[in-house]
Amino acid sequence: MSVLVFIETFQGGFKKPALEAVSYGHALSRLMQGQCQVLVYGKTDQPGLPGRHGADSVLYLDDEDGLADTAWLSGIIAREAAKFGAKALILAQNSTSRGILGRLAVSLKSGCASGVTSLPEIKEDRMEVSRSAFAGKASARLSLGGPCKVLSIASNAVLMKTDGQDAPVEVLTRPEPSGKVKVLETKRISGEIPLAEAERVVSAGRGMKEPGNWGIIEDLAHELGAATACSRPVADSGWRPHHEHVGQTGLAIKPNLYIAIGISGAIQHLAGVNNSKVIVVINKDPEAPFFKAADYGVCGDLFEVVPRLTAAVKRYKEQHH
Ligand SMILES: Cc1cc2nc3c(=O)[nH]c(=O)nc-3n(C[C@H](O)[C@H](O)[C@H](O)COP(=O)(O)OP(=O)(O)OC[C@H]3O[C@@H](n4cnc5c(N)ncnc54)[C@H](O)[C@@H]3O)c2cc1C
Repeated sequence: MSVLVFIETFQGGFKKPALEAVSYGHALSRLMQGQCQVLVYGKTDQPGLPGRHGADSVLYLDDEDGLADTAWLSGIIAREAAKFGAKALILAQNSTSRGILGRLAVSLKSGCASGVTSLPEIKEDRMEVSRSAFAGKASARLSLGGPCKVLSIASNAVLMKTDGQDAPVEVLTRPEPSGKVKVLETKRISGEIPLAEAERVVSAGRGMKEPGNWGIIEDLAHELGAATACSRPVADSGWRPHHEHVGQTGLAIKPNLYIAIGISGAIQHLAGVNNSKVIVVINKDPEAPFFKAADYGVCGDLFEVVPRLTAAVKRYKEQHH
């Protein structure tokens, strides 16, 4: 009983969530006593690299990064899943999978679930999977039926396998696009590390007083190799771009480390970040609600604490290089 994993390239390589999806596909295929095939879409010099993360074989569809029409792409994926006899189709949770998950489930006449957080329980011909619900406040359990269940995997939810070797690659002939939709251009968000998949996040709120003060946040994020985020009023005021806004009405994230600086910890903010593994709060108000959700708290003026923390991280890195 085999598993097909679909992943895309990014700037000639692979993003971490894509390789996590491969590791998930590998673990699931072994649970089902089958093989894990990976369909790589995009442009890369290393199409066999997913083998290091658990792929037994790779199909490579060579094309420009992220320029596919989703109807055309899902047609190809469904065809390959059927050819391979896949009983499960695995995707990383991202903007592409949001566009193709439903189409694939319809084509494959199977149930689908997005943002899956753990390996499924297999119950005869059904699969039970868990996913988070209500902006991370609850978890849902779904039972999926059909010949080829379709799952997208939440970022940072699975441990990445790294002990494999490059897999054998078969190059696919590129079918003609359907022509119904033509993607003319895609613009990628700039920034050192994409927030949705960051392992560490440095986030700041209205306590920063004004946008010109964000240099200390960026310095700390840079030293930690972290992405930057912010509270909603900060994005609403135009101090930071909207794609950095986390919370109930923003992005829900699940990093290993979330540092909240000058953020009060309103329930709507917590809804997007309370699944973080470790939360550190820096706030001058000892009554700030965020301290109740914190693993570590520093009660002090952020304009003193943050530069000292950055200097300490820098020192630590120099000493342990
Ligand atoms: C329907 C709805 C949806 C919402 N969705 C979201 C959402 O998705 N995300 C979100 O973030 N908010 C959301 N909000 C808004 C939310 O309720 C809060 O108003 C918001 O999170 C507060 O932002 P803040 O903590 O940055 O600002 P404030 O509440 O103003 O808090 C600033 C904090 O900084 C501290 N501070 C000030 N100066 C310093 C200093 N020098 N050193 C250290 N600490 C200092 C203060 O003690 C205070 O705790 C939503 C609200 C509603 C009604």
